[in-house]
Amino acid sequence: MSLNHHMHSRNIYKDNPPDFVQLSKTYPSFKPYVKVNKAGKGHVNFRNPAAVRELAKCLLHKDFGYTVDLPDDRLSPTIPCRLNYMLWVQDLLDAVIAEKSDEKMRIIDIGTGSSCVYPLLGVFINPNMNFTATEIDEINFEYAKRNVDQNNLTNCIKVVKVDSAIKTLLRHLVEDNTDAYKCCICNPPFFEDKETRKANGKMNSSCSASNVEAITTGGDLEFAERIYNESLVLKDSLVWYTIMFGKKSSFVTFKKRFVGNRTVLSTTYEFCQGSTMRWGLAWSHTPESIDTSKIPLSPFQSFNKTKKLSKPISFYIPSQTFDDGKDLLLNILKDLSIRAKVIRCCDRSAHIGAAAFEETWVGGRQRARKRKHNGNTTVVEDNSVDGALKSNNPIFEFHIELCLRFAGQILASFSTQNHTHKESMNGLVVHLRRIFSRS
Ligand code: SAH
Repeated sequence: MSLNHHMHSRNIYKDNPPDFVQLSKTYPSFKPYVKVNKAGKGHVNFRNPAAVRELAKCLLHKDFGYTVDLPDDRLSPTIPCRLNYMLWVQDLLDAVIAEKSDEKMRIIDIGTGSSCVYPLLGVFINPNMNFTATEIDEINFEYAKRNVDQNNLTNCIKVVKVDSAIKTLLRHLVEDNTDAYKCCICNPPFFEDKETRKANGKMNSSCSASNVEAITTGGDLEFAERIYNESLVLKDSLVWYTIMFGKKSSFVTFKKRFVGNRTVLSTTYEFCQGSTMRWGLAWSHTPESIDTSKIPLSPFQSFNKTKKLSKPISFYIPSQTFDDGKDLLLNILKDLSIRAKVIRCCDRSAHIGAAAFEETWVGGRQRARKRKHNGNTTVVEDNSVDGALKSNNPIFEFHIELCLRFAGQILASFSTQNHTHKESMNGLVVHLRRIFSRS
């Protein structure tokens, strides 16, 4: 089943997947790998490493203007997947409260591979990105350097050969450097030994990766753990530490064992493309430098959230334009100290995620009685919006779907995942209905 509809919303391949037939006409080197069916649709065997390699080269040239050389016996990147990761990193960096808007975003790419793919995509999507890309393998290092040189990117991408005697992945770079890095990215080697590599047939089948690329002591989990342990020393030297996992089991274990402990701010993302999924995990030791309301929810997560929702209760918001109606609702929610985040928004519809921290819509006296009754447990002491936002213990969370039905009428549908909160949510909707009927 194709997962393309869960791709990052800015991924150019989301609604426009590569047309293999067209591509093989523009790039004759790709032609041998394309089979055309009776309907004229092109197919590529992704289990053939040469086809994957040629496709990567063609897409990097056609869609990004890069000329890239890739060795036969090393990993070739799948471009839609790598672009998903870089776009997510861009979102995470956008959530950092910056002193200057044109500030350089200095990023470390641990194990850049022969293609140097993340830095190439990064500087394309945001020219303010600037990379230090490390590589331990001599062949990969030579190719990565060549790919940077021949695309005239030496001023924004520095490829560094890692001496195998150096046991750290980040520290030696950060501590030797006077300029601050914002973030690190990493697609770690997957496997712990040749046997595990062989046993993971599916993941391995299309992969031309050499053993040095695919195998590392302790596998991806230990590699990730090394980055985590270094982050505990480096702390705020970087704002975000990020990793992409190829195995769900490693992702889940890592999340539980390290970043799920609430002492760090963390967030996850699913990179969906074709029939494969990869998992991104980011954490930060400096939550104060991040606007958490800007941390993105992956399309996969928002889809799963809405799937399990209660039957919605709805009402119409009278408004001349969709944007005015949406902004009016957001302002009313803000006045009620309800935290709301627009997850998806286009001209005629929007999906808003929201959390209530106190039943601010219940009348003053009633609320006082309710507080007494509840033993003050969930009540935010500071009654301001800021106070509510600081609390990370909402009394309930809900979703709002806005949809412009006809001129001047926007249908607002409220639903919640936790059915025990339906009554509280209904109370809020009654209150909102009353406000809108007065306006
Ligand atoms: N980033 C590329 C390659 C990922 S494969 C991509 O996503 O396509 C993992 C890479 O990490 C390999 O190129 C491997 O040679 C490199 N690597 C392994 N150990 C490393 C280390 N200690 N420091 C830097 N790179 C390392």
